Amino acid sequence: MIEIGFLGTGGAMSTPERDNTSFLFGEEQNIILVDCPGSAVQKILRLGWKPQDLGAIVITHVHPDHIYGLPAVFHSLMLQEGLIHVYGSEATVGFCIQLLDLFGLRQSKFKTKAEFHAVRPGQDFSIADRTDVTALQAMHHPSSLAFHFHFRAGVHFLYSGDTPAAASPIKLAGHLDYLGHDCSSPSRFFEEYPVLSSMHTNSLELGRMAEEAGVKTLIPCHFFGEVEFSLTEIEEEIRRHYTGRLIIPRDLERYPL
Ligand SMILES: [Zn+2]
Ligand SMILES: [Zn+2]
Repeated sequence: MIEIGFLGTGGAMSTPERDNTSFLFGEEQNIILVDCPGSAVQKILRLGWKPQDLGAIVITHVHPDHIYGLPAVFHSLMLQEGLIHVYGSEATVGFCIQLLDLFGLRQSKFKTKAEFHAVRPGQDFSIADRTDVTALQAMHHPSSLAFHFHFRAGVHFLYSGDTPAAASPIKLAGHLDYLGHDCSSPSRFFEEYPVLSSMHTNSLELGRMAEEAGVKTLIPCHFFGEVEFSLTEIEEEIRRHYTGRLIIPRDLERYPL
């Protein structure tokens, strides 16, 4: 069985309830972590998995809320023999290498090693010979990619990363059983700050897009901490168009896929 566990569900600014968005796919003794903000090791433990089972980290882009915890993961596992594959665009992988080297974390005394894989939009790759992934173009930042995970158990999960609605990778994906998508705030904040539309997606737009694409299960995340709104408001806006299954996750929750 594959489960998804949320290390965080918030945007760049954390709140008492939500830290930066990051989640893991856990399948037996195999963890794929998607994005790597702070305290990943402790959050993996709190979710009930073992950091030693971390086999791959997939990074969507190089904004701090998606990447700044990476050195701490390798530092935490320094006494543990292991190999973690790190995937991202060429720009992201180059940034990750620089980040680890800043702390000298690729020296031989550190027992958990990193192996880096730069992938291009449209490229298919395989994680640990058991999960096929397609990298998709994303327009949020020059380093951005979205990822479509195809698990051998038949589960397909597209994660948009941060993305403006107008260029959402939702249009590039085939099966849309599960869609994890940027849902930064209700639409009223995008009316107040129009610049947000070039970077992120609001709940009204997301509900409309998900319905048009025939998404079976929608999982909105990356909720802004800078502005006040309730999850009820998010849910109501999504539900104005979307009729499928909706999971609005909270930090440190896990769900079977
Ligand atoms: Zn972000
Ligand atoms: Zn971003």
